Amino acid sequence: SVQTNTEEPVSREIFAMDTYMIITAYGENGQEAVDAAEQEIDRLDALLSTGSADSEISRLNAAGTAQLSEDSAELVSRALEINRGTGGAFDITVYPLMQAWGFTDEAYQVPSDSTIAALLEHTGSDQLDWDDDSNTLTLGDGQAVDLGGIAKGYTSGRIMELFDEYGVQSGLVSLGGNMHVHGTKPDGDKWRVGVQDPENSENIVGVLEVTDCAVITSGGYERYFEQNGTTYHHIIDPSTGKPADSGLSSVTIVSADGTLADGLSTALFVMGADKAAEYWRQHADEFDAVLIADDGSISVTEGIADAFSSDQSFEIISR
Ligand code: ADP
Repeated sequence: SVQTNTEEPVSREIFAMDTYMIITAYGENGQEAVDAAEQEIDRLDALLSTGSADSEISRLNAAGTAQLSEDSAELVSRALEINRGTGGAFDITVYPLMQAWGFTDEAYQVPSDSTIAALLEHTGSDQLDWDDDSNTLTLGDGQAVDLGGIAKGYTSGRIMELFDEYGVQSGLVSLGGNMHVHGTKPDGDKWRVGVQDPENSENIVGVLEVTDCAVITSGGYERYFEQNGTTYHHIIDPSTGKPADSGLSSVTIVSADGTLADGLSTALFVMGADKAAEYWRQHADEFDAVLIADDGSISVTEGIADAFSSDQSFEIISR
C-alpha cells in the first residue's frame, strides 16, 4: 500500500524464527528502535528456537525439566492459560506430532494410525508439571514442547514495548505476514492490514483498518504438503493428532495482546466456526476475529465489522 508520510521511515528486513520479518519505525529514534527490535528478535529466537539444539527450549526438551528464564516462563504460563481457555485446542505439547508429520524438518510423511495413537498418549498440557514459583517446567514421559504457536505474537508485542520505550509513535512489524501495528500511520490515518485469501495467498479478501494491535492469521495454506491428492497442513488438532479439519481455511485474530492473538489464531482454527464464535462471545473484550470457511465465506466479529472492508459480502457474528 502507498503511504503518505512526512518523513522517511527506518525499515529493516531480517530472517529469524524461520520467517521473513520487516520492522518499520517512523520519526525520531526510529533507527535506535529498529536496532533494539532486531536485537530483541535475535535474543528471543536464541531462547525459543526448537531448530537450534542449544536454545533454552531445546535443552528443556532434551533434559525433560528446566528452570526457565523470564521470557520462556511468561510464554509457558500464557500457553497454559490459552490451553485451558480453549479446551485444549491450543497445546504446546503437540511438538512430537509435528515431528512425526515432518513439519519440523520438512521430511513430510503421513504417520500410521498406531504412531499417532501412541503419540496422543503423551499429548496434553495436563501432563506438564509447571511450578510458577520457581519457573520450573517438567515434561511428562515422552513429551516435548514448542512455543512456536505464540512466539511470534509475543515477539511482536515486545517490539511494541520497545517502540514505546524509544518514543516511536508510529511503526509496525511484519513477522511472516503476521502484523503488529503501533499507533497510527504518521499522517494520523489508521493502518490498513490485508487479510489474505486462503485459496491464493497473493490476493487479499479484505482490509482491516486498525491502530495499536496485532493482526495474526493461521491458515492451512501457510505450510503444508500433498500426498496422494490429499493436502496436510501444519496446524495439528491435539485431540486427533492430525491436521485440524474444522471447516475453516483461515482465522485472523485482532487483539492488542500479540501473544493472545497468535495463540487464538491457532486455537480457533482447530475449534471451527461455531465454537470460535461461542468463544468470542465469552471473550469479546479481548479480541476480534475474521473467519474464512473452506467454501470461502467470511464471518467477522461485531467489534471489527466497521473496520473490515471487502468486495465480498460477509456475515457479522454478533454478541
Ligand atoms: P507459522 O506462521 O510459523 O506457521 P502458526 O502460528 O501458524 O505459525 O503455527 C505454527 C506453530 O504452531 C508451529 O510452531 C507448531 O509447532 C505450532 N502448532 C501447531 N498446532 C498447534 C496447536 N494445536 N497448538 C499449539 N501449537 C500448535
